[in-house]
Amino acid sequence: MDTRATESFDTLVVGAGYAGSIMAERLATQCGQRVLVIDRRDHIAGNAYDYYDEHGILCHRYGPHIFHTQAEKVWNYLSQFTEWRPYEHRVLADVDGQLLPIPINRDTVNRLYGLELETEEEMEAFLAERAEPRERIENSEDTVVAKVGWDLYEKFFRGYTRKQWERDPSELNASVCARIPIRFNQDDRYFTDEYQALPAEGYTAMFERILDHPNIEVRLNTSLDAIRDEIQFDHLVYTGPIDEYFGHRFGPLPYRSLHFEFQNHPTPGGGTVHPTGAINFPSADVPYTRITEMRYITGQVAESSTLAVEYPRTEGDPYYPVPQPENRELYKRYEALGAEEPSVTFVGRLARYQYLNMDQVVGQALSTFEKLVESGGVKPAVAS
Ligand code: FAD
Ligand code: UDP
Repeated sequence: MDTRATESFDTLVVGAGYAGSIMAERLATQCGQRVLVIDRRDHIAGNAYDYYDEHGILCHRYGPHIFHTQAEKVWNYLSQFTEWRPYEHRVLADVDGQLLPIPINRDTVNRLYGLELETEEEMEAFLAERAEPRERIENSEDTVVAKVGWDLYEKFFRGYTRKQWERDPSELNASVCARIPIRFNQDDRYFTDEYQALPAEGYTAMFERILDHPNIEVRLNTSLDAIRDEIQFDHLVYTGPIDEYFGHRFGPLPYRSLHFEFQNHPTPGGGTVHPTGAINFPSADVPYTRITEMRYITGQVAESSTLAVEYPRTEGDPYYPVPQPENRELYKRYEALGAEEPSVTFVGRLARYQYLNMDQVVGQALSTFEKLVESGGVKPAVAS
């Protein structure tokens, strides 16, 4: 007698990050489904996972995560599970021996070139003189050079991008460097979204509440391969890399990874090490891209401070899909395979191979759930 497949769930969710946890929460609370969430890591929260290090400092294991959104719907949804601590991120770039605001703004240009541009119009005119107009903005070099010209591009973007992606900006989609605006004013915030805050007790605590439901079971240190034949389920929600799901049938999709070096420094009296939350290092001569001081982001006051230094890597956990036309083509082939499996829902940054921020993944999970309900793929618990 086959003793396997004795346990049964309505939905198996692979991945306990935003995409998986929110799908589980929706299916359990709105449809009354029994949901099993697995993750091969030993923790929930995916790449947003945070923890207290051996010095008692709240750290983000997979790199600094700063929540920001324009979407009221996303904000309201997450606010069911957390209080917030307002935080506006500021970054300085280490360029030509100075620490200068990035995104580039009027102060950046004034300090770099020893100028006194006083108005937005003057800044606009300064950049217009140097910008190299491009008929079409097809890649990340076009994005920047068309707005600010070669010198600022070389100083702030080229080296950083080549380190982060191991590709020249001219090989990457325009959207990559377009994440960083160019400003004529003196606004030195990294983001200008309406909502900018961190979960008051951290991301992991927020995820504990998202997943805290009698119909949701979470199993960690568990991979899809290990459990697939041992349980029964009607519906699979998959939030891991899509090429891995299909056994890399068409070849691997490229991802970029990072190595994080955490350094703890004494800060008697509760001060900080750096003048701002993060310092970017665009120079090709420095092996890392940025250093983030965790306590700026979390608001924690302590006698020591932990810095996270980011070294880009090819090998390692897949963190970033690589936005290039040829990778999109390859993804499309996997997506077509996915479309042939109606009982599998692919959602999230890795499953959709999209360079998405946290809020965008929350929005994608919420709309994916809504579409499942609309299509009759899942049934709400109470008919309206
Ligand atoms: P993930 O968080 O990657 O979750 C997927 C989970 O699935 C993982 O835990 C993985 O272990 C699990 N899994 C995969 N395959 C399997 C399998 N076969 N079996 C079992 N489990 C599996 N966004 C922002 O908004 N602001 C930021 O400041 C920010 N900073 C970032 C910094 C870095 C360095 C990185 C890498 C990302 C950053 N992001 C930021 C993006 C953010 O991390 C993602 O948008 C978000 O975490 C994606 O959620 P997800 O659920 O799609 O994927
Ligand atoms: N970038 C850059 N110089 C900087 C900051 C960013 O060239 O000082 C480019 C680089 O290609 C980077 C992209 O802009 O990968 C997006 O930056 P962001 O800070 O949004 O990256 P993330 O936080 O997602 O790693």
